[in-house]
Amino acid sequence: MNDHSLAGRTGEGPPLRADIDLAALRSNVRALRRRLTGGAALMAVVKADGYGHGMLPCARAARQAGAAWLGAATPQEALALRAAGDTGRVLCWLWTPDGPWRAAVEADLDVSVSGRWALELAVGAARAAGRTARVQLKADTGLGRNGAQPADWPELVAAARAAEATGAVRVTGLWSHLACADEPGHPSIRRQLASFAEAVAVAERAGLRPEVRHLANSPATLTLPEAHYDLVRTGVSVYGLSPSAEVGTPEDFGLRPVMTLRAALAQVKRVPGGHGVSYGHHYTTPGATTLALVPAGYADGVPRHASGNGPVLVAGKLRTVAGRVAMDQFVVDLGGDTAEVGDEAVLFGPGDRGEPTAEDWARAAGTIGYEIVTRIGPRVPRIYHGVEPSPGEPVV
Ligand SMILES: *Cc1c(COP(=O)(O)O)cnc(C)c1O
Repeated sequence: MNDHSLAGRTGEGPPLRADIDLAALRSNVRALRRRLTGGAALMAVVKADGYGHGMLPCARAARQAGAAWLGAATPQEALALRAAGDTGRVLCWLWTPDGPWRAAVEADLDVSVSGRWALELAVGAARAAGRTARVQLKADTGLGRNGAQPADWPELVAAARAAEATGAVRVTGLWSHLACADEPGHPSIRRQLASFAEAVAVAERAGLRPEVRHLANSPATLTLPEAHYDLVRTGVSVYGLSPSAEVGTPEDFGLRPVMTLRAALAQVKRVPGGHGVSYGHHYTTPGATTLALVPAGYADGVPRHASGNGPVLVAGKLRTVAGRVAMDQFVVDLGGDTAEVGDEAVLFGPGDRGEPTAEDWARAAGTIGYEIVTRIGPRVPRIYHGVEPSPGEPVV
């Protein structure tokens, strides 16, 4: 290493960055829409900051590619979409009594209702706001999480129909969520399809005429056409990841991973054999070697469970984290190879330039690709590529 080798670097690059390929996101949305049966529409799920990719740019790109709906978990996320200028249909489904229900009704959000308490709050908010609340009734068809149990469904449906008659609400949707769609053939899938068909029939017999009935997440969108109904709620596949190895690879469905996580090496140095590496000395250099320091740690979402195991592309080869992942950094043993400080380390990306994928990190850490991308921390700047401003809309 000498000073000449650093000539030409601007010194402006962040040590660690997530490049977000919005052209790939748009192409993923289009590829998913081509699979839809019976004229179903697509909801791009942008909760949790767009699965870590940045909610607003991803929401905008998904709209540009024809997402008729956006999906959020919390009303706060949905309201942030409105604050950024999104005027299309938005459903949010994770409610507590504090809402904010009235703000959601005033912002024209579709709000999910899983029980009488939530219906009453939606009705109260509608009266206070002097308008009709759009509500979607959620059935628990077997996931055991949110949604009304089959035993409570007829009463919820009847109460919603009565509220509709007063003009306080309009029931725009009936919906549910699958437990095991990422394990195609799992026996619970058939049971949930049947339970959902029954919930829809009960609601329709009670006089409800929803715009949309929906059940499918990404794995059901990719593997179970009979679950498409009027709308699919795709999250992870929009970001180019497959829900599971059993479902397939992204390429099987024409999907391309949207995020590439890369770092500039913060240190490269020769060390003797027998040198301990990182906290706890869980790695010791087998002989004299070169160590490279990657400025990415568990505060950035690099899983500590991938200590000694996580894959990374450095100096043209796939290598493995040496020793523990720390809060801000980890070390890679370059063996007989060399690199220079500032050289690139790619933690994951689409995988077609030899770099690992988020799925590879998931396997190394005993988790799922969803968690790998979603946990990328706030210290990591998201750098957007392929931005297409929409005419007349504020740039977010
Ligand atoms: C997160 C979520 C989705 C999206 O699931 P993916 O598997 O990422 O497509 C759909 N519906 C609900 C209710 C969710 O919470």
